[in-house]
Amino acid sequence: MRLTHWINGEAREAANGRWRDVFDPATGQAYAQVADGDAQDVDAAVAAAERAFPAWSALPNSERARWLEKLADALEARLDDFAHAESRDGGKPIKLAREVEIPRAISNLRFFAHAATQFASESHHGQAGLNYTLRQPLGVVGTISPWNLPLYLFTWKIAPALAAGNTVVAKPSEVTPHTATMLGALAAEIGFPKGVLNIVHGLGPEVGEPLVVHPKVKAISFTGSTLVGRRIAGLAAPLLKKLSLELGGKNPTLLFADSDWKANLDTIVRSAFQNSGQICLCGSRILVERSIYNAFRDALVERALALRVGDPIDEDNHLGPLVSQAHHDKVVAAIARAREEGGYVWCGGNTLDRPGWFVAPTVIDGLGPDCASNREEIFGPVVTLQPFDSDGEALQLANAGDYGLAASLWTRDLNRAHRFAAELRAGVIWINTWLMRDLRTPFGGMGQSGLGREGGTEALRFFTEPRNVCLDLSQ
Ligand code: NAD
Repeated sequence: MRLTHWINGEAREAANGRWRDVFDPATGQAYAQVADGDAQDVDAAVAAAERAFPAWSALPNSERARWLEKLADALEARLDDFAHAESRDGGKPIKLAREVEIPRAISNLRFFAHAATQFASESHHGQAGLNYTLRQPLGVVGTISPWNLPLYLFTWKIAPALAAGNTVVAKPSEVTPHTATMLGALAAEIGFPKGVLNIVHGLGPEVGEPLVVHPKVKAISFTGSTLVGRRIAGLAAPLLKKLSLELGGKNPTLLFADSDWKANLDTIVRSAFQNSGQICLCGSRILVERSIYNAFRDALVERALALRVGDPIDEDNHLGPLVSQAHHDKVVAAIARAREEGGYVWCGGNTLDRPGWFVAPTVIDGLGPDCASNREEIFGPVVTLQPFDSDGEALQLANAGDYGLAASLWTRDLNRAHRFAAELRAGVIWINTWLMRDLRTPFGGMGQSGLGREGGTEALRFFTEPRNVCLDLSQ
């Protein structure tokens, strides 16, 4: 199988003729090839997007919304094909792909279709004249997305960009290019206007960077690692290019003795290990009030040992492999480092003895907040436990480190919950739940977790340029 770019509504090979292997993480074998693009393909895609912009941006919002709805309908009709492709490409349990991720991609398209029809701009009067704000699309915009939630995050970016009237050049991760390619084909099949959505595959330095620095690309929306986010910020800053950066996390889960933790263990376990911990929102540092520490640790270890790890296509498996050999090696090295730092591994800690890149769910304790294991993102099925004795200590541990993406806290004390919500350094806070998402809410992190917010009107504002118009009413 060969996965091509989609440029100007057409399937295209890379101009340089190169292909890269795409691997099935459950077997470790290549199962497809993807176009290995470079700046020539980015140029062609940007040119197509530029040609498409005048007509697309001139459509009424409701017409653009209809196109997004049409794409959502087509995707919904193929939900199962997309779920299988996503599961194979990223090693994700089929149930997760079918019940959560592809449905969420459909919701992203529908949500921003509706949002575009409701998006209004401000007016100000009573001080100096009558002012109103025009919010106009930027032009050609670039999106760069990661491998962990491939179509879910791909659509989370292209939907608001398109709904707001921009045309898009999108770069999916080279590690998981399958479903984005399928979406390109689907768009062509339903007659989506040519050049409005272009997809270019390839490596970050060879496709991502030319996209970031391209003079015709007005904004970049990036989700990925902090390291690459910094690199992109460095390239975009001198060009004064609009930038949204959704980066890594090292999220705390705070568990208080008064919480209903036993009744909520399913969700707490999911928050640690869903998608093998390869979700930026997973709680990888679990902070536990000392009086329940041993009981919780034992319960967590028991549940982690009971998680079925195996072929992601098997409906009964809870966890699949890690996405790539390189990522597997990184996670295994992080576990080895935790041992060197003096951590005690209660369960997991090993690669499964089978083909593919499987790591057993791992629970580690005995490490303080300054250890690399508690500071650096591991992005695998690995959690650490730390006890605390007071609210003050819990807050200090939660806010230790440089990231600030998400936090979840479990308590029945409402005062404490709201106090923590105001003091935790994180852009997304869950109280007695995890990964409950209303797409209208601002989404993003602080510190090393990024810049800017996605979701709802935040995304539509990012993908539009405000222009204030002032009228002197006295004349
Ligand atoms: P990554 O940063 O390696 O790659 C992300 C994307 O950037 C890929 O498409 C990649 O090809 C591209 N890229 C790589 N180098 C580039 C460069 N020099 N210039 C331009 N583009 C470049 O991240 P990843 O390993 O694919 O994803 C995992 C990371 O993403 C984790 O750190 C995770 O926390 C983060 N993430 C964050 C969020 C969020 O919303 N904050 C969501 C999901 C994932």
